[in-house]
Amino acid sequence: MKIFCIGRNYADHAKEMNSPIPETPMFFMKPDTSLLRPGTPLFYPSFSNDVHYECEIVVRINRVGKKIAEKFAHKYYDEIGLGIDFTARDLQAKCKEKGHPWEIAKGFEGSAAISGEYIDKSTLNLDDLSFSLLQNGKIVQSGNTKDMMFSINRLISYLSGFMTLKKGDLIYTGTPSGVGPVQIGDELIGKIEDREMFTVRIK
Ligand code: ZN
Repeated sequence: MKIFCIGRNYADHAKEMNSPIPETPMFFMKPDTSLLRPGTPLFYPSFSNDVHYECEIVVRINRVGKKIAEKFAHKYYDEIGLGIDFTARDLQAKCKEKGHPWEIAKGFEGSAAISGEYIDKSTLNLDDLSFSLLQNGKIVQSGNTKDMMFSINRLISYLSGFMTLKKGDLIYTGTPSGVGPVQIGDELIGKIEDREMFTVRIK
């Protein structure tokens, strides 16, 4: 399976990173070994001193597709989950400076946290869906899909123009503002609306 992550899909996050707002979706990928199984802790990687959380709505692809038209994209997913795109911000900053790819900052073991459950999309309003992340009980990120620059359907159409999507592929759809560092001992809880989707502990 493939893990896609969308960069700068919320203007307020692009702004906090001093990054320009893209005209087309911007994506990168994580290896399947980066998936953090629900209920397992993230072990802080030894090569970074500045690992950040990025809480994101996650779409799970349900069938094979390529060059999918935006108007048919809704047929390629049934469920929505929530995850964290953990990022070694110090390494990423060096990559950005040199114009290098980001994989070492984004693809490490456990860097793609995912909820244990997914929610049937027919029960949700995907154009106005709020989600949040709590760090040690305090809300640090709260986002809403209505602030996405590129909708889920647009993202599916765009990605499938470059790579065949397969059943089980995940799309992390970008993070809102409020990203910040994690420390060993932290507890991160992610919610869609009021529903608790995951708890991740940092060890
Ligand atoms: Zn992200």
